[in-house]
Amino acid sequence: MMGKQHTWALVTGSTRGIGKAIALALARKGHNLILHDRGSSKKEANAAMKEVLNEKVQCIYIPADVSDNESCLKLAEQIQKHCGTVDVLVNNAGIAKDRTLKKMTPAEWSEVIGTNLNSMYFVTHNLLELIPDGGRIINISSIIALSGNFGQSNYAASKAGIIGFTKSLAKELGKRKITVNAVAPGFIRTAMTDSIPVELLDSILNLIPLKELGVPEDVAHAVSFLASEEARYVTGTVLRVDGGLSF
Ligand code: NAD
Repeated sequence: MMGKQHTWALVTGSTRGIGKAIALALARKGHNLILHDRGSSKKEANAAMKEVLNEKVQCIYIPADVSDNESCLKLAEQIQKHCGTVDVLVNNAGIAKDRTLKKMTPAEWSEVIGTNLNSMYFVTHNLLELIPDGGRIINISSIIALSGNFGQSNYAASKAGIIGFTKSLAKELGKRKITVNAVAPGFIRTAMTDSIPVELLDSILNLIPLKELGVPEDVAHAVSFLASEEARYVTGTVLRVDGGLSF
């Protein structure tokens, strides 16, 4: 990306977990940060803000519901007012509501598709005008998009949709030198994976060539590369960060 001191990066869902690690990695590279989440914890937001400000960059926090177009329109309006541009957009916010298809309710299906996939359209469409030529869009998918998983048909469908979205957008925005890539994390230590029962965790570890779960910083480094000038010729790709689990 261009001269970092004046660039703004928006990372959705960035006050905890993988999103926070991405925000900190981009701040360390000199990007100013727009922190975002759904607005459920002031404490988390304040703590994340403090950590980003320690990196001596500018930082603002804007809550918004990524599954709601109106809310994303307001998010874009506030960003336009305070920052002018979004040079790096990382679509990271996401949820899981695991259940076998037989037992899955329409709400569990719609909530996951709404938060993980419809959000790609709502956030990116409303912000597109603010992304300058040479900008970066990085969407957080999952290796579950590639392999599927028992009890995750809603999640897998949403994350696979993100890959198709990413590749299409890479073709549409290439002439403006905007790169669009996806990162597909494997099993990463966060609130999302803390709830995996120990026996299941052991069997997962057996399948991972590197024999350990990843940490949020592993995903953050991959995103940081895709956001960099060095990655200018990389677009439409899916970068797996999974300890080798899915090849
Ligand atoms: P997390 O639950 O710790 O954080 C999710 C963030 O998304 C939170 O900040 C939350 O406020 C935000 N969010 C959720 N719903 C939202 C909504 N409707 N509007 C606005 N913000 C909303 O999750 P995490 O483990 O850090 O995961 C981050 C991303 O990485 C997700 O897209 C997830 O699917 C993906 N991922 C995680 C793993 C893993 O092992 N943890 C693996 C593969 C992919």
